[in-house]
Amino acid sequence: MSEIHKFLFDGLPVRGVLVRLNEAWREVLRRRAANTSHGAYPLPLQNLLGEMTAAAVLMQSNIKFDGALVLQVFGDGPVKLAVVEVQPGFGLRATATVSGELPEAATLSQMVNVHNAGRCAITLDASTRQPGQQPYQGVVPRFGDQHEKLDKFSDVLQHYMLQSEQLDTTLVLAADDQQACGLLIQRLPLQGAGNLAGTSARANEDEIGQSEDYRRIALLAASLKREELLTLDADVLLHRLFWQEQLLRFAPLQGAAGPHFSCTCSRERVAKMILGLGAEEAASVLQERPEVEVGCDFCGAQYRFDAVDVAQLFRQNAPQPSQSGTLQ
Ligand SMILES: [Zn+2]
Repeated sequence: MSEIHKFLFDGLPVRGVLVRLNEAWREVLRRRAANTSHGAYPLPLQNLLGEMTAAAVLMQSNIKFDGALVLQVFGDGPVKLAVVEVQPGFGLRATATVSGELPEAATLSQMVNVHNAGRCAITLDASTRQPGQQPYQGVVPRFGDQHEKLDKFSDVLQHYMLQSEQLDTTLVLAADDQQACGLLIQRLPLQGAGNLAGTSARANEDEIGQSEDYRRIALLAASLKREELLTLDADVLLHRLFWQEQLLRFAPLQGAAGPHFSCTCSRERVAKMILGLGAEEAASVLQERPEVEVGCDFCGAQYRFDAVDVAQLFRQNAPQPSQSGTLQ
């Protein structure tokens, strides 16, 4: 079962989240493999998208925010786009576009940052966002502090969290064709109620890289091997890493409350898109083919609108003269 485990280190300014996606991730892959125009993902892209999906669920579970979290990579190599969207209730979907050959052992840079023009962005799209209002978007740097290319997606995100939130974060991510998993360890700021502020000896620990406790726990987390993350169940994994620490575990989020595949596409949304094209453009599409056909890249759903549907759509949405005869 796909699940999220949150935990605190008792008395220490450190928290953690462990995410394990199996059915949810396999559903993403199954939908892609069933798509006759794309086919299954090449191996390195499958693993990158899996790591992104685990990371997006980790981030969504780790912030107080009511809205969709979207993690995007815009590549300048064979991988043009990889995108993961996680809704507040952990409904998730993911897709990627690739063109050309992708070597079996392609690195992150070889996939998305060949000419140093790849980009990565995190978007928080609030549920309360009004039409016309822009969602918050953070652009993630592609390079480390020494301007080195980052070749692990976890390093890219760690760097982002440090820069944007000023919080030490350790991420371990792994994915294969069965699971997508991630572990996040984060230092909590000392300021605020109910923490250790006031003990002056600890005052400077509220700075990046200064907390002994965080550093010890982060080192343990970073020792986690890919195979362990992919194969061990949560209890065994957390015990193996942190058996000397006092962990306070929360009830896992799983089943309907946990991560699950869910696509937000709908016939209504496609109808809006066709209306956005305008009657003329829609008519010109229909001159070339019998239907306007729009496929969803996330779930594979196909939406078809024939000439009658399109005509009806524009008729229903034509500006209505109001009672007084002026246009609304
Ligand atoms: Zn869909």
